[in-house]
Amino acid sequence: MKFFKIFKYLYLDFRAFLYAVQQGKKLRVTNEIANQRMEICKNCENLNQEFKIFNYKFLRCGICGCILRAKTKLTFENCPDNPPKWKSSF
Ligand code: SF4
Repeated sequence: MKFFKIFKYLYLDFRAFLYAVQQGKKLRVTNEIANQRMEICKNCENLNQEFKIFNYKFLRCGICGCILRAKTKLTFENCPDNPPKWKSSF
């Protein structure tokens, strides 16, 4: 069941990415916005345990499974919570 949920969010992210590219939108937010989003995520009850790849540790969203260091930097990304704690920047 969790696999289908992650697949759903991957699909939604990919659709948002295509929309952003098609519309000629910027893909990366400023460092200030990325830091603001990350602060919100760090205080969120859905923040997931660290995800480790080799020696690198990443924080993940417990709802969509995204790696937050990447998710918070992309303009087309949304917080998947209901209501969202932060929104896409276009
Ligand atoms: S993306 Fe939203 S739900 Fe996920 S950890 Fe960040 S604030 Fe929480």
